[in-house]
Amino acid sequence: MQVEGKNVLVVGLARSGLSAANFLLKRGAQVTITDRKTPQELEGSIAQLAKPAQLSLGNHCREDFLRSDFIILSPGVPSDLPELLEARTRNIPVYSEVELAYRFLKGRLIGVTGSNGKTTTATLIGKIFETAGLDCVVAGNIGAPLIQSLNPSTGSAPPSTTYVVELSSFQLENIEQFRCDVAMILNVSPDHQDRYRDFNDYLSAKKQIFLNQSGGQYAVLNADDPHTLKMVADRRAMTVLFSRTQVLRQGVFLHDQRIKIAWKGEKIDLMAAGEIRLRGSHNLENVLAATAAGFLCGVDQEAMAETFRDFAGVEHRLEPVLNLGGVGFYNDSKATNIQSTLQALRAFSEPLVLIMGGLDKGADFSALAPLMNQKVKRLILLGAAGDRIEAALGEDVPTIRAREMGQAVQMAYEHAVSGDVVVLSPGCASFDMFEDFEDRGRVFKEAVQALKDV
Ligand code: ADP
Repeated sequence: MQVEGKNVLVVGLARSGLSAANFLLKRGAQVTITDRKTPQELEGSIAQLAKPAQLSLGNHCREDFLRSDFIILSPGVPSDLPELLEARTRNIPVYSEVELAYRFLKGRLIGVTGSNGKTTTATLIGKIFETAGLDCVVAGNIGAPLIQSLNPSTGSAPPSTTYVVELSSFQLENIEQFRCDVAMILNVSPDHQDRYRDFNDYLSAKKQIFLNQSGGQYAVLNADDPHTLKMVADRRAMTVLFSRTQVLRQGVFLHDQRIKIAWKGEKIDLMAAGEIRLRGSHNLENVLAATAAGFLCGVDQEAMAETFRDFAGVEHRLEPVLNLGGVGFYNDSKATNIQSTLQALRAFSEPLVLIMGGLDKGADFSALAPLMNQKVKRLILLGAAGDRIEAALGEDVPTIRAREMGQAVQMAYEHAVSGDVVVLSPGCASFDMFEDFEDRGRVFKEAVQALKDV
């Protein structure tokens, strides 16, 4: 891709926009950056620009879009901005940051998408490569954007590198040549109903991960998820299924509580599921998906098993915090939708005191009712979604309202006895009270630690 001397518009100056702009500036492009935010709000990002760029901030200007050779769109910006639609009708290409990175990348690419489990699975894949002593970069939503791992002067990284990229549906909306050697969709459940017209629209964005694949690449899909299973029929790549509930003729699956791989006549018994350190059946699915990726890339099997025995999880995902007087505290702040809260409830056999709530994304909380009834002795509600959660679940479980996280943790501890578990698994976004889910998780952990000092 020719970048030098081109007029490029970067829309959105958050993490991936900043990295893309810096890459383009260092390669000699004429970069304009536009963002609805004001220069004051973007002060921190502007200070990190590698070279001066033309800034068009506070609003979007149609001319910036129309005079570009191509446009790089950040995942947080909707694809249907009127200015973008007009640019498209004039055949001005609109790319996501991963498409730009792809044009310069040499090496193997593993793409991970799905409604839940992306970060955990991508991290697991990175760890198995690391344990096996192989060169691997984990990028995307986790850590640094993909473009940041490329050297702008040579425009490449060593071809022996494997890139594991966590891809959200937003990033997949604007790809053109981007092609994964191994592409996986872990699961699909309704999420981001505020951004997509309907569920089919969301499915279509996820399916983009298989775009450009053919017989030489692999598509890894969850055989237990009806939505991903349906995608098998229209794949041109070699399909590799994984399953927690069925014995597969070919694929990665659980049988007699052991992880097995069957592929082209080869049969491998990897390890007992009981040896996996991560908790919950959802994490078992993530392990099966990571096994498929490792196997397809020829990673040493013992390195995989060793990683699964050791890896304790990613921060804010069912993260053990403390055991206080026999009460275990877990931080699952990353559970920003109902499906992940459901998984948290399934992961514990102990009686639960659950802290939920936050910013409402229009979810149907009543889907939690059966498990709530069975497992949760007390539900503590926080934030803007409190009323709707109480209306949906108030008859299934005793609920209490808390004003802020410290009070919620205090109340949870008061209602727990030795042998119970207190878990923060909000099922909602965090932005009503916190900067992001990480901030929410940190505040929870501090409040838990503070209980020790009382
Ligand atoms: P993502 O990157 O897709 O948001 P994470 O690995 O960060 O996924 O996990 C997000 C939330 O979803 C956590 O609460 C976690 O416990 C839950 N989760 C993780 N893996 C799965 C899975 N395979 N299915 C359903 N929920 C999952």
